[in-house]
This record gives sequence, structure tokens and C-alpha cells, in this order.
Amino acid sequence: MIMLSIKNLHATIDGKEILRGINLDIKPGEVHAIMGPNGAGKSTLANVLTGRPGYEVTEGSVIFNGKELLELAPEERAGEGLFLSFQYPVEIPGLSTTNFVKTAVNEVRKYRGQEPLDAVAFLKLIKEKMALMEINQSLLSRSLNEGFSGGEKKRNEIFQMAMLEPKLAILDETDSGLDIDAIRVVSNGVNKIKSSENAVLAITHYQRLLDYIVPDFVHVLYNGKIVKSGPKELALELEEKGYDFIKAELGELQ
Ligand code: ADP
Ligand code: MG
Ligand code: MG
Repeated sequence: MIMLSIKNLHATIDGKEILRGINLDIKPGEVHAIMGPNGAGKSTLANVLTGRPGYEVTEGSVIFNGKELLELAPEERAGEGLFLSFQYPVEIPGLSTTNFVKTAVNEVRKYRGQEPLDAVAFLKLIKEKMALMEINQSLLSRSLNEGFSGGEKKRNEIFQMAMLEPKLAILDETDSGLDIDAIRVVSNGVNKIKSSENAVLAITHYQRLLDYIVPDFVHVLYNGKIVKSGPKELALELEEKGYDFIKAELGELQ
């Protein structure tokens, strides 16, 4: 069974075509990595999938759980079980992580026709996930992301992901590089929630993350298209040879 099926996806920003025909199928239990040089369209793909404003889809379809994802509002996509770890998390002064997460969890439950969690059930869930993600109470009481270090932001996001129990988690990592602690936080968290029922799409410029979150498939995104796919060893080959080897294969290097 296919969980996510992207077919011939084209998208523009300000009239400029960024995605030029993406095709990708993801099944439950799989980890897919998307790599590619800066400006290839990796974040655009993540943003289009989660429905971030500012992008226009000009062609193609994205079927998620049998539904056309592109017709759903961002919160409906979350309700269907899509989670995006933001490359640059927002800060919300005055809103604690606990209250933010409570709202998010209950919105998803509402979408699925479930009652909101009562205080006791929410506390039980939060305690379970805090232990799993090795996160402490003080982080959850503070205003969302305000004054958080890079590592704390990541820990917080991964905690949110664990609370929401997504079917497909999309991780868009900064090209400038997470420090090694943040990489451990992200990968430990992802590996703990990974199951045969869910899937991960890990977007990364560098191979390093993939030492920790081991992909079943690696795809190279270049100039708005997936130009090459392969097993996890492809990530190592890219690291070793650089993206020029992709350009050479495409006949772009003289
Ligand atoms: P990547 O994540 O692979 O580095 P992006 O998806 O962020 O690439 O960007 C792809 C292309 O789209 C780049 O050429 C970038 O300059 C352009 N782009 C991204 N966001 C915007 C924007 N808001 N307005 C105009 N161009 C953008
Ligand atoms: Mg970039
Ligand atoms: Mg990016």
C-alpha cells in the first residue's frame, strides 16, 4: 500500500518555477531521504506538501491516505497525519509549549472525530512522551521557542512530533548544519517513534544526518526534479564525489 504518491508535481514561487515534475512514492515503514544542492527546491517541496502559503502548484497531484493532499488546508493535512519539522521554528511569546501542543493534539483529534483529551489523559500522554524524548518539564513551561537554543528548539519540535504521532514526518534540516547534539536529538527521537505504520521523509543537504536516521531510499533533488534514486549508499557517494558527479551524469559538465 502506498501512503504518499507524488505525481508530476510542479510548483512556482512568484511565478518562477521551482519544482519541475517531482515523482515519489512512499510506503508505510519506509524512510526516504532527499538530498540536493542549495537552491534545488528541497524546502519548497516540504512546504508545498504541508501547504505553507506562498507557493502555487501549477501541475500534478499528491495523494496521501487516498486523498488529494493539495485540496486540503494545512490543518487538515496535519489531521491526516502529516508533520513538518520546520527549518526555522517560530517563537511565540506567552504561549507555553504545553498549551501549544495541547491545542495541536486536540485539533488533530477533532479532525478525526475524537473527543479532546481530558486533563488526566493529556498529562499521561505528555509524561509518556517526555520520558521517551528525554525532555524535561522546564522546557515545556517556557514560551514556545523563545530564547531556546538551536538544540532546545529541535528537542521541542521532536517532542511535538512524538505527541502528534504522525503517519508521515517530514524533516527539513538546515543546510548550515545542525550541531552534533541537535542531530542526536532529532535522530534519537525519530528512531524511537519509527514503526511499520509510519514513514519519514528526511530532507538534508549533508550526509551526516543519515548516519543516524538510516534511509531505505535516497533521492537526489536537482533543479526541481528527482534526477537519481538509490539505496542508502548513494548518500555516501554524494558525500564523497559532491554534486558535480550528478551534473556530470546529466551531461551538464564539459
Ligand atoms: P533548497 O531547500 O533545496 O535549498 P529552496 O526550496 O529553499 O531550496 O529554494 C529553491 C529556489 O527557490 C531557490 O532558487 C530559492 O532562491 C527560491 N526561493 C525559495 N523561496 C523563495 C521565495 N520566498 N521567493 C522567491 N524565491 C524563493
Ligand atoms: Mg537552502
Ligand atoms: Mg532548504
